[in-house]
Amino acid sequence: MSKKIDSLLFPSFCANCKADTPEEPPSLRWLCLNCHKLLIVRWQKVSFKPEISESYHIFDYQKDKLAKKLIHNIKYDFVKEIADTFYVALESERFNFRKLMFDFILPIPLHKRRFKEREFNQSELIAKKISEITEKPILEDIIKRKFYRRPQMEVKNREARIKNTQNIFECLDAEKIKGKTILLVDDVATTGATLKECARTLKSAGAGTILSFTLAQD
Ligand SMILES: [Zn+2]
Repeated sequence: MSKKIDSLLFPSFCANCKADTPEEPPSLRWLCLNCHKLLIVRWQKVSFKPEISESYHIFDYQKDKLAKKLIHNIKYDFVKEIADTFYVALESERFNFRKLMFDFILPIPLHKRRFKEREFNQSELIAKKISEITEKPILEDIIKRKFYRRPQMEVKNREARIKNTQNIFECLDAEKIKGKTILLVDDVATTGATLKECARTLKSAGAGTILSFTLAQD
C-alpha cells in the first residue's frame, strides 16, 4: 500500500494545520480541536423562492474558507470521514432543526455514474444526521437523476447553470409525496438551480411545501 493511500485511510493529522490528531473522537481525526474552533457555524436563511419556501445553511463560503476546504475534501478527494466533523456543527444547531416543520427529508441524489466513482453521496450523509436530530424519515428512491451532467461548480454563469439542471430529475413515486412537506438536503448551494429544479419536479408530482438545507452557501 502506498504511503499516500495509507495516510488517507489512517489519518493522523489535521486537514487544515497538519497538527497530529487523535484517533478518537472521529470528529477530531480530520480537524484538530484548535481548527474546529475556527469553523464559523451560523444558522442562516436565503431565498430560493418561489420554488422553495424556506432555505437554510450553516456555513458561508465567502466568510469561511475552512468549511469550503473541508467540503471540497469530501467531494473531490472522497474523504467521507470528514462528515464526522460536520456532524458536530449540525448537532450544535439542533434547536433550529427541530423548529422546522416537515414530513420527509430528501437528499439530492447523485447520478449513478458519479455515485459509482465517489462511492457515497455526501448529501445523504448530511441527511442522515438531520434525520437523527429531527426524528424525521429520509425518503429513498423517490427521485433520480436522468442525465449525467457537468458538476455545477464547473459551470460559471447563472444562465448556463439553470440550463445544466433543466429536467434532470424524475419522480419515481408521486403517491408517497402527495401533499407532503419535504426538506431537500444538499452540501452546497450557489444559485440554488439544482434545489429549485428538484423542487419543481416534486411539486409537479404533487408534493406540498418544499424547504431546503445545505451545509454551505457559496
Ligand atoms: Zn488544525
